[in-house]
Amino acid sequence: MKVAKFGGSSVASARQIQKVGSIIRKDPLRKVIVVSAPGKRHGEDMKVTDLLIGLGNAYLENRDYDMYMQFVMDRFSEIVSELDLDTGVLTTIQENISNVLFSDYSNELKLDAIKAIGEDSSARILSAYLNRIGLEAIYMNPKEAGIIVSDEPGNAQILDESFSKLRQLRNKQEIIVIPGFFGYTKTGKLSTFSRGGSDITGSIVAAGVQAELYENFTDVDSVYTVNPTLVRNPAEITVLTYKEMRELSYAGFSVFHDEALIPAIKEKIPVAIKNTNNPDAPGTKIVAEREINGTCVVGIASDTGFSSLYVSKYLMNRELGFGRKLFHILEEESISFEHAPSGIDDLSVIIRDNQLTKEKESTIIDRIKTLLQAETVKFTHNLAVIMIVGEGMLNTIGIAQKATTALVNANVNIEMINQGSSEVSMMFGIQAKDMERAVQSLYQIFFQA
Ligand code: ASP
Repeated sequence: MKVAKFGGSSVASARQIQKVGSIIRKDPLRKVIVVSAPGKRHGEDMKVTDLLIGLGNAYLENRDYDMYMQFVMDRFSEIVSELDLDTGVLTTIQENISNVLFSDYSNELKLDAIKAIGEDSSARILSAYLNRIGLEAIYMNPKEAGIIVSDEPGNAQILDESFSKLRQLRNKQEIIVIPGFFGYTKTGKLSTFSRGGSDITGSIVAAGVQAELYENFTDVDSVYTVNPTLVRNPAEITVLTYKEMRELSYAGFSVFHDEALIPAIKEKIPVAIKNTNNPDAPGTKIVAEREINGTCVVGIASDTGFSSLYVSKYLMNRELGFGRKLFHILEEESISFEHAPSGIDDLSVIIRDNQLTKEKESTIIDRIKTLLQAETVKFTHNLAVIMIVGEGMLNTIGIAQKATTALVNANVNIEMINQGSSEVSMMFGIQAKDMERAVQSLYQIFFQA
């Protein structure tokens, strides 16, 4: 059996849901379906999840939330009426929203439960539609399916016990439609994954039912070698490994959630990225191993929004426990780090900006200065990270030279370089303002030369 996940743009309107119906009908192996909440129908549109967050916040802050309620219900009413479905599903959606708002949950839990209503409603609508077009389908709540998660609202993690429960879904006759993005804690509280988390649900379910393939339907034909907003018509990637995808999706490849691969990797389930609007396009296959035939670099990922914490102290290399103490301070300030390139007497720690505030930065600087007696401790902002990714780099000489030549050609100063020992990727830290130029030059040297 296959698990197919349809993202926000695939369920954004009745027309899109009809395409989803044809895709499911075309392959009887598509037995378990995971859906997102309706996404944007056009550039200025809003995602239903964002509308629901607006609604939840307005309610919790005692502001008028009618407008949000209206927007949300209008989106679903339009879909239900254009698909010619029983309007009972709209009553259920409205009741679900009211039940959450007027429940005795804490504010945090309420917000999470409100956020999840987008996916939940999509799954109800799609299962009703599949039945209307003659396919036997059922809606299944993640609790019933067995998606048990940690108690971390907005950032839940799957618990291992889920997988054996999910395996029982194999025995169902009907097509099962499961809402993505959330699960339930052991004590029965709804908890969502991080944003974009329906990909994670799809992967969990695929691992649970031991699917032969996890298809992730989105609105692009494939994963591209580089962000298409930076380079026009970049080449498509037909096959890449889990490791390569993991590195790529981490920095700027928003096609697939970066946490979503883990369950698939564990069970070695191949993943296919496909386009709902062009389902016959071959898409991108993500597999455990691929043949490395000449293409040692498969893609270039890039993202802005990073800062670096620079720490230097003479003879740092000889000081026992220096790194541990430094990272302990970061841990206590609830900061996780992305990379940590180091020299003999200095170390840079690259951190995503969204974890930092002015106050946090000065606390960290003070603590490092006091505890570690470091000579220089400073934050640098407005950094971009570029990753050159490819398993073939391991046995190829001259990749770094090629990459640095591209950066020289683009007149870009390299602030940091890091290559993990697995040699699946090479990281360059540069000024954010130089990112576009740098990526274009790298693309040219690796893919167009
Ligand atoms: N609807 C959720 C979001 O917008 C999850 C998802 O679409 O995967 O983040």
